[in-house]
Amino acid sequence: MADNNSSAKNVSDYFGCNVFSDKVMRERLPKDVYKSVQRTKKLGTAIDKNIADVVANAMKDWAIERGATHYAHWFQPLTGVSAEKHDAFINPTSNGEVILEFSGKELVKGEADASSFPSGGLRSTFEARGYTAWDPTSSAFVKDNSLYIPTAFCSYTGEVLDKKTPLLRSMEVVSEQALRILRLFGNTTATRVTTTVGPEQEYFLIDKKYFDAREDLVITGRTLFGAKPPKGQELEDHYYGNIKQRVSDYMKDLDEELWKLGIYAKTKHNEVAPSQHELAPIFTTSNIAADHNQLTMEIMKKTAIKHGLYCLLHEKPFAGVNGSGKHNNWSMSSNDGQNLLDPGDTPQNNLQFLTFLCAIIKGVHEYAPLLRLSAASAGNDHRLGANEAPPAVVSVFIGSDLEAVLNALEAGKKYTTVADQEFEIGVDALPNFPKDTTDRNRTSPFAFTGNKFEFRMLGSSDSISCANTILNTIVAEELCEFADALEGKENFEGELKKLLVKTIREHKDVIFNGNGYSDEWINEAVNVRHLPNLVSTVDCLPDYVKPYSIQLFEKFKVYSAAELHSRTEALLENYSKVINIEALTMLEMVKKNIIPACLTYTKDICDTGASKQAIGITPVLEKELAEKLSSLTADIYKETKILEEKVIAAQGKEDGLEAARYYRDEVFSQMQTLRAIVDETETNVSEDRWPLTSYSKLLFSVE
Ligand code: ADP
Ligand code: MG
Repeated sequence: MADNNSSAKNVSDYFGCNVFSDKVMRERLPKDVYKSVQRTKKLGTAIDKNIADVVANAMKDWAIERGATHYAHWFQPLTGVSAEKHDAFINPTSNGEVILEFSGKELVKGEADASSFPSGGLRSTFEARGYTAWDPTSSAFVKDNSLYIPTAFCSYTGEVLDKKTPLLRSMEVVSEQALRILRLFGNTTATRVTTTVGPEQEYFLIDKKYFDAREDLVITGRTLFGAKPPKGQELEDHYYGNIKQRVSDYMKDLDEELWKLGIYAKTKHNEVAPSQHELAPIFTTSNIAADHNQLTMEIMKKTAIKHGLYCLLHEKPFAGVNGSGKHNNWSMSSNDGQNLLDPGDTPQNNLQFLTFLCAIIKGVHEYAPLLRLSAASAGNDHRLGANEAPPAVVSVFIGSDLEAVLNALEAGKKYTTVADQEFEIGVDALPNFPKDTTDRNRTSPFAFTGNKFEFRMLGSSDSISCANTILNTIVAEELCEFADALEGKENFEGELKKLLVKTIREHKDVIFNGNGYSDEWINEAVNVRHLPNLVSTVDCLPDYVKPYSIQLFEKFKVYSAAELHSRTEALLENYSKVINIEALTMLEMVKKNIIPACLTYTKDICDTGASKQAIGITPVLEKELAEKLSSLTADIYKETKILEEKVIAAQGKEDGLEAARYYRDEVFSQMQTLRAIVDETETNVSEDRWPLTSYSKLLFSVE
């Protein structure tokens, strides 16, 4: 068995040791088979059966050397994290023994009963068969004694039931359209453009024993109650602060586990809120980044348990301090070595860069609701629009230098640099582009950061697949429009400049470099610039199936109308279910723990008062306290009953959107009302009598 003990070794010795990587394939496959797999990877063509058999066998031998006994087709269903079904390699022989086998057929295609996965009503149960199909562009790996094979998940009737297939489709279409633009600039060498992603992952780390003691954390991943601690994040002493020993040990272990799986974990630091941290990998191709991010989240949780910690990936585990997001750093690069969003140092690149930049700005402006909904979930609603994460209004930050360039271009003026040099914007001028590295606007949902865009709306527990699928498709559409308008034109540069000026004029309203958290901005965005402000999931999900959205996704065959409808249904259903579970958990906690604790505490106070009375002391304090607690407890009881009624009423809503609206407007808002009273009560009850671990303990106990 391979030595997986990494502690004494160099990272380069064990990096990727559990991955069936390109290097392993080259070593273990016959040359022609290896070449054939490479072709499949590049062109996305189907793999020949005989070749699949050879690959499967090599994979199996390699995996068994690493202790694997099973293989699993691994996929990302519509909701939830990831799914896997494990089969042992064993096959019985006629003499009652077993041999270990893994065929090409088993590698390429797997059967999965799709009926238990959300489909948003795409199929009825009798036709619930689905299958998983190998994605050879993402490497197989060994984890927990299984060989994991990254796959896509479809129904037998062809509908897509996962998040990966649309992502792969969107990567194809954006590549095609970007190549059309590159050709217009005279590029004949590039044959493929890939979208690259580096997701920064935020998380909370708390003591496992305190996690276990909170029913709300265990069941819903967030605290449904909890009075604010005397200290929150106001001192701003946690961000980039010194990392505590236990956390540091955890991070070291986590890095090693991720490196073994070939994940480029790179940066780690403390975040703004107490107990909040971040991990960022080095960017890679979108679909691999998506797979790696799913794995990262899983390994984060598993590794925490080993350290007596619990890793919370919920977007808002604690009220009153920042929630967690996932910054999706995104760019495009061509296989002849250019980052298309790098302004570059040569004049040629400038205009090409501006073309891609303008296409993206236009796309964000025209399809803002789709970007907003790509980050929509019940958990993330706590962040977006609150005073911390990017606002729910989607705008683009490009920095003051770039804005000046676009303004100059629009006005047909020369652009003046800081050093007072003047440049005509075009192919033969503007040698050194200003790269905006100084201004790190953290409040923008979609920020240009030097050579990539950072889409900051995603929730920490989300898969990045949906957001990148939508982003890629939007950009493909804009590049397609540009290419349609420019191909075959004689005066390319002149026509291009006209097109860019028009684009800037029509879409500059989406550019905003100021403070995205301020009320003035929201006001200006909505009332002056008419940008949509879709505050909650329920507000934005209906856009998914509006004609403009269906047209976009069908044009590029990323989603069919039926698939869009099913996804919307699945997301709405998930939203309602999450709130329903939270409401039920609240009811249980109030009835089983909180009210009983209030009653016994009140009784003790009354008993103390009675004892005092008996020896002739008037129990003034006891009376006041008991009255206050009685009244708070009565309020809790009253609001609990209302919440209970609303939860029951919600069951009667048949329509997905209507139900989700009801959950938001009635159930969720009633949960807020109930929480406020319970939290106030907490501050009036002795700590050893309060049945829930305090925020102070949860947030400040890891040393
Ligand atoms: P910050 O916190 O300052 O925004 P980090 O270093 O934490 O920056 O994260 C930046 C992320 O951006 C990293 O994951 C990095 O790999 C990624 N990134 C850098 N260049 C690109 C690119 N061309 N395409 C996609 N992601 C990129
Ligand atoms: Mg960062």
